[in-house]
Amino acid sequence: MTRSERGSTPVKQHSVAVFPGSFDPITNGHVDIVARGLTVFEEVVVAILVNSEKRPLFSVEERVGIVRDVYKDNPRVRVDTFSGLLVEYATRAGASAILRGLRAISDFEFEFQLALMNRRLSPLIETVFIMSAESYSYVSSRLVKEVFQLGGSVKDLVPPIVERRLREKQGTPAGAPPAAPSVRRRVR
Ligand code: ADP
Repeated sequence: MTRSERGSTPVKQHSVAVFPGSFDPITNGHVDIVARGLTVFEEVVVAILVNSEKRPLFSVEERVGIVRDVYKDNPRVRVDTFSGLLVEYATRAGASAILRGLRAISDFEFEFQLALMNRRLSPLIETVFIMSAESYSYVSSRLVKEVFQLGGSVKDLVPPIVERRLREKQGTPAGAPPAAPSVRRRVR
């Protein structure tokens, strides 16, 4: 939906939402939000932020490859990268909305600030929040990486390709438990 002027009748057109994030790596929490997003929008663009300040586990190219593989059979999901202002990217991508997932109250404050800043920058692009599935409400990319590195199973928390890529990074053969670190430390 778009409005040529505020308050005028909405005009139906191909609806696109951008789902931005680091996706280092994509988890089943992200997959769940994309699936729910596709019940509202005709197309979802998974937009991987190119952020030179962070030190990711997977390179941007690896993350693009993984997300493309996850959605290889779904023509309604586009995978792309972006840098700079999200609202400018969303406009270039033909999106009318920014899709974000909400896991817990702790996500809310930051997401609220971000949404209001983006609205100030581009009033025509709405931020749409979707509640995560209860079963994934505790899942984050950071925790998945930490649990895997500590030897824990992440089997039902990430798509199978992510588990394979995590093993490849660590040099652990499929079927074997992930290599435990020499010094055990607490998760978090
Ligand atoms: P960021 O680097 O901004 O944290 P992420 O890739 O971790 O990016 O997350 C992108 C989006 O996915 C955010 O809106 C985040 O709230 C949402 N998200 C991440 N994990 C989950 C989950 N388990 N359930 C629902 N939403 C999630």
